Amino acid sequence: MKENYNRDILLKCIVCGDTDLDYVKNESSVKCNRCGKEYPGGYDELVELNQLYIEEQIEIMKTEIEKDTQKELDDAFKKVFKNSKYFKIK
Ligand SMILES: [Zn+2]
Repeated sequence: MKENYNRDILLKCIVCGDTDLDYVKNESSVKCNRCGKEYPGGYDELVELNQLYIEEQIEIMKTEIEKDTQKELDDAFKKVFKNSKYFKIK
């Protein structure tokens, strides 16, 4: 695998959808910098509220990895055939 797929999934404010969230007190209390909505449950609460969004992002990431993997396999096969004396690819 060429790249790593580590990507930040930014949690969103459920009120305004902004990702500009203020993580204070070791993520135990979070406040939205845009609309001022507070999440007393902190990071955990946000993750729970963003569950669907997170799953969606994971699905997108999975699809990307599958696509890349398939392409790499195709390229690898082509190379094998190209370098082979017995097979030719048109
Ligand atoms: Zn907000």
